[in-house]
Amino acid sequence: MKHQRSTAQWREMDAAHHLHPFTDTASLNAQGVRMITHADGIYLWDSEGNKIIDGMAGLWCVNIGYGRKDLPEIAKRQMEELAYYNTFFKTSHPAVVELSHLLAEVAPKGFDHVFYTNSGSESVDTMIRMVRRYWDVKGKPQKKTLIGRWNGYHGSTIGGASLGGMSYMHEQGDLPIPGIVHVQQPWHYKYGKGMSADEFGLLAASWIEDKILEVGADKVAAFVGEPIQGAGGVIIPPASYWPEVERICRKYDILLVADEVICGFGRTGHWFGQQQFGFTPDIFTTAKGLSSGYLPIGAVFVGNEVAATLAAGGDFNHGFTYSGHPVAAAVAHANVKALRDEGIVAAVHEDTGPYMQKRWREAFSRFEHVDDVRGVGLIQAFTLVKDKASQTLFDNWGEIGLMCRDIFFRHGLIMRACGDHIVSAPPLIISKDQIDEMIATAVECMEIFEQKLKERGLA
Ligand code: PLP
Repeated sequence: MKHQRSTAQWREMDAAHHLHPFTDTASLNAQGVRMITHADGIYLWDSEGNKIIDGMAGLWCVNIGYGRKDLPEIAKRQMEELAYYNTFFKTSHPAVVELSHLLAEVAPKGFDHVFYTNSGSESVDTMIRMVRRYWDVKGKPQKKTLIGRWNGYHGSTIGGASLGGMSYMHEQGDLPIPGIVHVQQPWHYKYGKGMSADEFGLLAASWIEDKILEVGADKVAAFVGEPIQGAGGVIIPPASYWPEVERICRKYDILLVADEVICGFGRTGHWFGQQQFGFTPDIFTTAKGLSSGYLPIGAVFVGNEVAATLAAGGDFNHGFTYSGHPVAAAVAHANVKALRDEGIVAAVHEDTGPYMQKRWREAFSRFEHVDDVRGVGLIQAFTLVKDKASQTLFDNWGEIGLMCRDIFFRHGLIMRACGDHIVSAPPLIISKDQIDEMIATAVECMEIFEQKLKERGLA
């Protein structure tokens, strides 16, 4: 696409008219936005012609990589044939039926039904309404409370932000809404000092049981968690955690919900994060990798027992104008088919995932202010620490992380700072050579960062 304006003009217009998500407008406008104009594979280019490695696949979503030629073709064809129709009033259309059929094939056994949304947040809000409806139909309407986790991220809508455990989001808009409570995250490094991973996993799961007993099992509808907390800093729970959470939910007759918005569609080397950790939820939410970000679409996967219960209850009074939008559904179908048929998810499991994890550990463990280098498949993080020997974190959590992230960004690599966790989640089509290129750039940036810490007397 030919762009007619200069970077300066775009910056001026952006500052004049565009309110950015999760952004301090005054400081952004003082600095000026970086205009991203095109992309291919794992690379982005800005309006000044600089090439950037996208170590975050956008917002953990461009699983299939940028610049696919087939997806726009399919979108065009679908738009010409049937640009829009809804599925509210006893109608359907081929694109949404084909997608649903394919999703049932790639989903774990027992998930034969999906409900469509336009985003992860809408998937989460849909799930909240579904869970509460489920217990109404079951004749237990007092089971309404959902348990989430501190530092969990479940989106920006009132429901999603309430269920998430980001205090900086709760502070704005009087959240959480009633009926949502939180337990501590399974972050071994911080909360399990001196314990084995397995011991800590059981302890962290026991916090959920404590909360159930505090609220009363007869009032708890569901526990909801990301298999790996993403925006919370790629917090990978010990192997003992999820099976124990599942046992607890079953014991107290509480629905178990996995938020697979990041982990879903291959990020961990499995189709879904639950398969990495060996548990079976009742419902799971998805978005992002479903279309690899080519168009907005989300899906709630509903386990067969929950689907049957909802069906027995008659109308479920919920849905969106664009639930199962034909163009988004056609593109999602082609994307999921490619992730499967081109062996992209399999490669993350067998090849690029283990390779990337090994390379980050080899390259980053030596840094004085880096600890807990961790990851699964193509999701990875390390934590910036003031003192590695005593596992002491920096004061003013998050400030150092932003400083580090900005150095990476200036040097052509997008990583994300989640507090002082520095995270990467590149497109799943990244090659081993590109992993080497990404990590070589990251090492150079880290050397600059550690030097800066010393110069500024921060370490
Ligand atoms: N759930 C999880 C686990 C997420 O990571 C996100 C977004 O990052 C969401 C929900 C919200 O998705 P969206 O931004 O598409 O609304």
